[in-house]
Amino acid sequence: MTAAAHGSREWSTTPTEAHEHGWSVESRHATSAGYVLYVRCADCGTQRVDLQEGDTLPPRSLSVEVSPSKAPSRG
Ligand SMILES: [Zn+2]
Repeated sequence: MTAAAHGSREWSTTPTEAHEHGWSVESRHATSAGYVLYVRCADCGTQRVDLQEGDTLPPRSLSVEVSPSKAPSRG
C-alpha cells in the first residue's frame, strides 16, 4: 500500500526559507527615486515593497517581507 499525496497540497509547517516566492506586481508608482513596486506572492500572499531605480535596472527590496498570516484565521 502506498499513501501517495497526489494533487493535495499539505499546508504544514513549511519553513519560509524553503518557499520560493512568486512575486507579482500589484501596483507601481513613479517617485523621484524611481519606481516603487508593490509586489505580492500569489502563492502565500506575502507582500513586499520594491524599488526600481530605472527601467533597465532590476528592482531591489525596499521593505521586509510581510506575511499575511500574523493572526490565526478561522475559516
Ligand atoms: Zn510566497
